[in-house]
Amino acid sequence: MTPLSDDFYFLFNDLKQIAFTFNKADEFGAVNKRMAEFCESSVEELENKNISIVLNKKDRKRIKNFNQKIFQTGERKKREIVVEINNKMKNIEVDIIPHHNSDNEIDYLLCLAVDITDKIKRENIYFRNRERYRTLFDQAPLAFVVSDRQTNIIDWNQRAEEIFGWKKEEVLDQNFNLLIPEDSYSEVTEMTEELFSGLQNNNINKNISKDGSQIYCEWNNAIIRDQEDKIIEVISIARDITERLRAEEKIKKQNEELEYSKLRTQFFANISHELKTPLNLIFSSLQLLEFYLYNSQSYKEKDKINNYLNSIKNNGFRLLRLVNNLIDITRIEVDAFSLHRGNFDIVKLIREIVNTVSDYLEEKERDFKFICDLDSAIIACDPFNIERVILNLISNAVKFSARGDQIILNLQAAGEDILLSLKDTGIGIEKENQQIIFDKFRQVDQSFKKKREGSGIGLSLVKSIIEMHGGKIEIDSVYGSYSNFKVFLPLKTIDQEIVEKESYSPDSLLNKVELEFSDINYI
Ligand code: ADP
Repeated sequence: MTPLSDDFYFLFNDLKQIAFTFNKADEFGAVNKRMAEFCESSVEELENKNISIVLNKKDRKRIKNFNQKIFQTGERKKREIVVEINNKMKNIEVDIIPHHNSDNEIDYLLCLAVDITDKIKRENIYFRNRERYRTLFDQAPLAFVVSDRQTNIIDWNQRAEEIFGWKKEEVLDQNFNLLIPEDSYSEVTEMTEELFSGLQNNNINKNISKDGSQIYCEWNNAIIRDQEDKIIEVISIARDITERLRAEEKIKKQNEELEYSKLRTQFFANISHELKTPLNLIFSSLQLLEFYLYNSQSYKEKDKINNYLNSIKNNGFRLLRLVNNLIDITRIEVDAFSLHRGNFDIVKLIREIVNTVSDYLEEKERDFKFICDLDSAIIACDPFNIERVILNLISNAVKFSARGDQIILNLQAAGEDILLSLKDTGIGIEKENQQIIFDKFRQVDQSFKKKREGSGIGLSLVKSIIEMHGGKIEIDSVYGSYSNFKVFLPLKTIDQEIVEKESYSPDSLLNKVELEFSDINYI
């Protein structure tokens, strides 16, 4: 028994810390309440008892040896030890202070201890979590980029190194913009703002790698906030989807090509009909001509012969127009089509066309009107091709309207353009067909038994020619009611040098009318 004063006991018992003494290397002396709680026992059960009362054999031996050394050396020791109490492993940090009596002999060891079991447990969990997440972070098949509130990179995993080509040391403290191509800066800044305001956390971005190559990544972002809800970090996870996008693009292109090839096949099926009909008509007219020439005695048959000659001529023109259009559409495709522009009075040009076609239109019983409040307007244009455009549109207006329908050609100034609109009160065009009619080989009625002649390249050619003039064509139509084609041409002239370079050469308008109208002069 260690003689301890009452005061000491009072203090000792009331301590928040675990406190006890060793009388001998393997025997407790005094034990305070905390110690009793720690040992899941009572003070009485422990005081002046052998340590075997709470410790197993192994722990007993270890502690006895340890205490013996202190009794021998008199050296104060601080240790973290693990002991098993009631089948539970407990961690304890003990400060062992040898007490010397008046003869300077060590009479007991005073131990002050702290139960650190929970702390160690927490640390272990934290450490294991940290290790686990570090491994996950480093070895994830996705790129992890951690950045701070200022979007400076503060962490970066192996996959990020592989995708973006930068080593971790190279990107730390660099701004996230390092991964953004210049033309996407503003887009990404907007996205970051949306992310910070909690609106958007997934996006697909164009990124740039160390070697300058462009890659597409799908990003998922998570915002980490502190206790005051302030943003401290952003964890961004990226998946490289460049290959996937490329494959999708390829499939899209292949589908488009397939669709285009189907269209082309259909076009060739149509075109053979287009080529054969005028040829058949030419040959049957020739046969009949021969018949009349050999059999008729008089000139009574002159009218008939005239009709057959007209048919031959018109069908010859149809073939020629078709071949010309085919050649030009192919030339446009290979960039070998060029305009021969000069500065011309478009008002005069259109008036000439109107004068030439009005008889035809009257003959076809269309109610034709030309409205123009301009005296003149000089613009840079290729009259040959502009005439072709207008004649094509007029020919369509006739083709897709019936007797008595109106055809109105209106020429006016519209801001920096000349606007030429051609409206007919014919069959009109369904909404879903209004854009495709300008595509190559496209006709609204693609069937073999279609009611009207045509190859479906007229409007595509018209559009290309207008665009080469720096203009545009628009369609406004209500199916069953009217079609209004609007052609805008820039109200501009060109320098003489360009005129000479493009060497415009005039051609007879009349020939062209016969040519362009050959589809509707179906004889
Ligand atoms: P096509 O040689 O068949 O006339 P286009 O390219 O000139 O070829 O026209 C394409 C299609 O656009 C036509 O087949 C027709 O369906 C439609 N279209 C063109 N102009 C008109 C119009 N004025 N009214 C109704 N449909 C039209």
